[in-house]
Amino acid sequence: MQQAEIGLIGLGVMGSNLALNIAEKGNRIAVFNRTTARTDEFLGEAGPLADRIIGCHTIEEFVAAIRPPRPIIIMIKAGEAVDQQIDALMPYLSKNDIMIDAGNANFRDTVARFARLDTTDFTFIGMGVSGGEEGARHGPSIMVGGREESWKRVEPVLTSIAAKYDNDPCVAWLGTDGAGHFVKTIHNGIEYADMQMIAEIYGILRDGLGKKAGEIGNTFGAWNKGRLNSYLIEITEKVLAAADPESGAPIVDVILDKAGQKGTGKWSVIEAQQMGIPATAIEAAVAARSLSSVKEEREAAQKIFGNPARVFKLEGGAIETDLELALFAAKIAAYAQGFAVMAAASKEFNWSLPMPTIARIWRAGCIIRSQFLDEITQAFTANPDAANLIVTPAFSAMVKQSLPSLRRVVAAAVTAGLPVPALASALTYFDAYAQARGTANLIQAQRDFFGAHGFDRIDGKPLHHGPWGSGA
Ligand code: NAP
Repeated sequence: MQQAEIGLIGLGVMGSNLALNIAEKGNRIAVFNRTTARTDEFLGEAGPLADRIIGCHTIEEFVAAIRPPRPIIIMIKAGEAVDQQIDALMPYLSKNDIMIDAGNANFRDTVARFARLDTTDFTFIGMGVSGGEEGARHGPSIMVGGREESWKRVEPVLTSIAAKYDNDPCVAWLGTDGAGHFVKTIHNGIEYADMQMIAEIYGILRDGLGKKAGEIGNTFGAWNKGRLNSYLIEITEKVLAAADPESGAPIVDVILDKAGQKGTGKWSVIEAQQMGIPATAIEAAVAARSLSSVKEEREAAQKIFGNPARVFKLEGGAIETDLELALFAAKIAAYAQGFAVMAAASKEFNWSLPMPTIARIWRAGCIIRSQFLDEITQAFTANPDAANLIVTPAFSAMVKQSLPSLRRVVAAAVTAGLPVPALASALTYFDAYAQARGTANLIQAQRDFFGAHGFDRIDGKPLHHGPWGSGA
């Protein structure tokens, strides 16, 4: 029998859709799943594509079905399961075979796996895949980390299955070891911020302006035709328009307000903090999910502190235009922070992460896909050494235009008692980033007072301690 071009282990939601996508693009693929009944079920569901899929019931049979050097996508539960799967595969592999972890791994685990496999005859790729079930089936955004030679072996298959933006495939090799999984992590961190900011604007419209879900959906629908055009705004409109089959009420009104999280947002924040890069909008979004999860505590606190009227009042102008511009300004801050974290990581881990390429492969397929990412691609292409996205000519102009709206919206929300942690952190990020003389002089004085940590003077004189005397 003709050998497969590639193998895939793990026929869960993501793996089965990815396998169908691979087969549909004309590639022959071998598949294996721990629970073998799932393999048979999957082949039954594959329809005519089953002709290009070799279903295997043992690892030995699976490995033998793939053309060497064998690329093997592992799309299973992240964590220890991946190490167990690698160990189970190794005895059957040959020189230069490539194991590709396509799950949501912590990039530090990917770096460790890459290093471990580098001492063997096999190689390892850490591959971030974004786009959920739909993306996996019809075209995800794919972020690859590993050896360039390994990438070359898988490039044709991955290019065939990736999402396309104006015919440009949303897949790229981004660097060695953990580069792909790191970039996927930051993608998710930005996604957390994007979603939280949308939710805060929804909160203003619902609680501060008394709008019904359907009306709010229409507003997001209108915004999706303009500068905010993106997948997340598009699905927000759809979600707000959907009715609960049980009660007939808008489905959002019957969903419990406790957000889940699996770790990538938290990892983005931890890595940003480790490198000393402010990612305040992402931090606010992760914290907001945590606060959402303590529902019982929030209910008890509302009994103590009361429930303010939360009436949102904005002076003059069109409220919806201000809200749209505020969301846009805050979104710029979140993306600027995410890209700044990646720029720092690129130096820290010697990856040479290509910023325009990252923005380019996020334009389609992934959850944060948008027209906006095409503008980021152009900004980083024109200004490869920009210290921050917001100081590039195109984005500084956008910030200047939209920042007054963000300021008005945050001020009105705070006055009304409407929580807007991500929008507010985006605003103060702009304000602090663009303040040449900040207030850290006082912090330096305090640090020197109690800990003799020293400070630098604005006149450059070599005097590094204050006149604190014995009070220190
Ligand atoms: P899923 O539907 O729950 O499927 C999990 C798969 O992992 C199943 O095939 C399962 O096999 C296998 N598995 C679990 N433990 C295993 C072990 N110890 N050894 C071997 N196989 C094991 O999960 P999913 O949503 O497809 O997610 C897979 C990966 O993709 C995860 O890392 C996830 O974070 C990532 N991801 C998911 C999405 C998404 O939108 N869902 C998006 C991007 C990335 P059995 O059938 O035998 O249980």
